[in-house]
Amino acid sequence: MAQCKNCDRPVQESFCSYCGQPADVAHISFYFVLGEFLHFFTHIPDRFLFTSVRMLVAPSTTVRDSSAGNADGTNPPSPIF
Ligand SMILES: [Zn+2]
Repeated sequence: MAQCKNCDRPVQESFCSYCGQPADVAHISFYFVLGEFLHFFTHIPDRFLFTSVRMLVAPSTTVRDSSAGNADGTNPPSPIF
């Protein structure tokens, strides 16, 4: 059983039931820091390029999937317009 990295209590689900800390804390990598740095100055969402390409290739599918709640790694397409 995993332990909470915040309060050291056992965690059975995705979040600690005592303090709310996520059970799987993301590892901070070089790409994460680079993405946060670029986002700080540009405010461009992290999946903007992927969403833009998908909107060019299959716009109706992207909007339909996003409306149905199946984002599949894309941002909501409405800010692109
Ligand atoms: Zn906790």
